[in-house]
Amino acid sequence: MLFKEITGQYELKRQLIQTVIDKRISHAQIFFGSEGSGNLALAIAYAQYICCQNKQDDDSCGHCKSCIKFQKLVHPDLHFVFPVNTTNKFKKDVKSDTFISEWRKLVTDFPYFSEQTWYKYLGIENKQGNINKVDAEIIMQKMIFKPFEADYKFMIIWLPERMLIVAANKLLKLIEEPPANTVFLLVSKNTDQILKTIFSRTQLIRVPPVDEQSMEKMLSKKYDLSPNETQVLTRLSAGDVLKAIKIHDRHATEQDFLENFTFMMRFAYGKRYVEMLEWAEEMVKLGREQQKSFLYFCQQMIRENFIMNLQMQNIVYSTDKEKEFSQKFSQFITPKNIESIYSALNLAASHIEYNGNQKIIFSDLAIKLAHLIRKA
Ligand SMILES: [Zn+2]
Repeated sequence: MLFKEITGQYELKRQLIQTVIDKRISHAQIFFGSEGSGNLALAIAYAQYICCQNKQDDDSCGHCKSCIKFQKLVHPDLHFVFPVNTTNKFKKDVKSDTFISEWRKLVTDFPYFSEQTWYKYLGIENKQGNINKVDAEIIMQKMIFKPFEADYKFMIIWLPERMLIVAANKLLKLIEEPPANTVFLLVSKNTDQILKTIFSRTQLIRVPPVDEQSMEKMLSKKYDLSPNETQVLTRLSAGDVLKAIKIHDRHATEQDFLENFTFMMRFAYGKRYVEMLEWAEEMVKLGREQQKSFLYFCQQMIRENFIMNLQMQNIVYSTDKEKEFSQKFSQFITPKNIESIYSALNLAASHIEYNGNQKIIFSDLAIKLAHLIRKA
């Protein structure tokens, strides 16, 4: 991980580099910041910089033997520990190393992800992960040896707040008096939940929110947005890369939903049955979770358009496109049909829930709507 791959955080990067120049690398540090602050990426980039054989003023070289291994997260002196739990595939004795290839893949793909994303990726999303006693024992075994290739040996512990007390107790002494040339980098989003005994033995590095200019630059590179949209998204993200991505994705999904809703209503109103069936076929491709979300979105649209038709005030529209659509469409949602339309959407959602045939559910819905929309 190069520093330049991380959005913003220029001041912190400079400070970290300075600790290397001044040879005052603290043996236990906590990178504390929100999940979208880049705290994990910064800890990895810091370790890479310390080991780089051809350090530049502001970053690792990215080409030396050490950097190449770091880029793939396979350097023999770089170790990771993170919360895990049992999965369908691994039903007992799980530890961080059980999932090391999944970890490497997720981090190298994009080093900003949430705890939930990690659990989902492992297939343990209904359980909480933790750092257990076995991992604490492995940390002790790994850290007593001298570094293999670099001058230092690193243990990056992601989410130390998920460490069980038995595990933490085993590590106290090691973190307080670590063997020479070992560095513990803890990466936390909530230091309040870290055991005090561990926390008090580490140096706190606060990772602040990403500055607006860097966020805007990152977003305009990543997405095809107008300058105005980029600014709004930057403001809403509050310096959190993950939050920005989440808001963007939700917005993009809603745009797709609106498009689908518009098609469905247009075909229904025109009684264009062939197109309705084609539309239903397209909807099947969405997958059940998305289909349910779409149907809830439809209910929300129906409700908003009904309110608009009644000329009631205080409607909050998510987007201008929705508003534009509603100006024409709202006249078709009246007290005569709103309840039946709502129930038709509800019924479709519950049929989806009970694994009904999706194509039949959506074509049936479109045909019902064709009838109901004309009752306005
Ligand atoms: Zn290098």
